[in-house]
Amino acid sequence: MSSPQNIDVLIIGAGAAGLMCAANAAARGRNVVVVDHANKVGKKILMSGGGRCNFTNMEVLPKHYLSANPHFFKSALARFTQWDFIALVLKHGVAYHEKKLGQLFCDNKAQDILDLLLDECAEAGASIFTHCDIKTIEALSAEHAPARYKVATSLGDYLCESLVIATGGLSIPTMGATGFGYQVAEQFGLALKPRTAGLVPFTLSPTQLEQFKDCVGNAAEVTVTCGTQSFTENLLFTHRGLSGPAILQISSYWQPGQNLEINLLPQLDLVDYLTRQQQERPKVLLTTLMSELLTKSIAQSFCSFVTEIRPVNQYTPKEIQAIADLFHKWEIMPAGTEGYRTAEVTLGGVDVDGLSSKTMEAKNQPGLFFIGEVVDVTGHLGGFNFQWAWASGFAAAQFV
Ligand SMILES: Cc1cc2nc3c(=O)[nH]c(=O)nc-3n(C[C@H](O)[C@H](O)[C@H](O)COP(=O)(O)OP(=O)(O)OC[C@H]3O[C@@H](n4cnc5c(N)ncnc54)[C@H](O)[C@@H]3O)c2cc1C
Repeated sequence: MSSPQNIDVLIIGAGAAGLMCAANAAARGRNVVVVDHANKVGKKILMSGGGRCNFTNMEVLPKHYLSANPHFFKSALARFTQWDFIALVLKHGVAYHEKKLGQLFCDNKAQDILDLLLDECAEAGASIFTHCDIKTIEALSAEHAPARYKVATSLGDYLCESLVIATGGLSIPTMGATGFGYQVAEQFGLALKPRTAGLVPFTLSPTQLEQFKDCVGNAAEVTVTCGTQSFTENLLFTHRGLSGPAILQISSYWQPGQNLEINLLPQLDLVDYLTRQQQERPKVLLTTLMSELLTKSIAQSFCSFVTEIRPVNQYTPKEIQAIADLFHKWEIMPAGTEGYRTAEVTLGGVDVDGLSSKTMEAKNQPGLFFIGEVVDVTGHLGGFNFQWAWASGFAAAQFV
């Protein structure tokens, strides 16, 4: 058996946060090794943003993040901002563009972002190993100082001063996602917040699917509300239920059993509009008018809930109000979500109260750091999750 390798920093997980941390810690002169159990590094980066990686957002604000402690993430996000990442993107000549709502995507492919991180790691001298399974982690007594942890892996044993857990969340298990980081947290007495799938499509019941079967593949710009949270973006009807950016966003705020209220025409006052049509185009059928505002399938499906389809001038003001409510206040209770199989993120994770917001180090366990999605910090759709991975990775890199 070969003797353990002595290094300064061992990072478990070669994803967005792990690679960012590795490059910056190595740039400080630390001897850094990154290990990953997968056959390739950065798989989620490669599949992100439809293959173009929405790597950050022009506007990153606290309101774009969820965590049991809504202040925890502020310090790291302030220390490494979207502008810092954009500077890195420019340094590496990666072509990018703003798609919408401040979301920045690669012009070419997500591989450009992974290459940027790997180049930074190589330049700084961080070593990266794939196909590495972690067997055990042991905290060492003071007599082994400066080493604080012994990590036994399928590639050999490491003694390290700082151990960084960057193993991400549970979403997309087929891409190598595991609950490993949560197990390490538990091993060292850190609390966990309950984990659920976030940024995930909703499923509908068979009855609901039957009601909206003609809408499959159709989209509309809607405002979807759950509790006090609202998003105005596209909704897409799918053969399993509801998807699209508005739905993914609200899914992070939804609890099973809660209703969604969906305004299918957020830019219009339908009572006002239909009342004017009663004067201007009295003989036009309601379905025809609604098909001018929404796709024909969506308009017809929702008009099927109206008792009788007539020319618009034949509805009373009370009926017009009821029709408007149908489109402005569609209430639906999802059956569930598609779960981790298709979720973009995992909500919950390592309880931030157990971590330093400045360093990401466990308060009760010197030298043990948690960064990225494994931590109970989740961003909205739009590049915010990568920005958290960059920022938390950078924060830890200054202290490992
Ligand atoms: C389909 C999809 C699209 C997305 N698109 C975007 C987007 O465009 N913009 C955005 O901001 N966010 C996006 N996200 C979210 C984003 O990918 C994650 O939030 C981000 O990758 C988290 O970074 P991380 O480093 O914490 O974890 P990850 O990037 O998931 O990296 C974790 C690494 O740890 C490794 N690992 C796991 N378990 C072990 C173990 N037991 N032993 C060793 N290694 C292990 C994994 O193999 C992986 O390489 C998307 C997610 C998905 C699933």
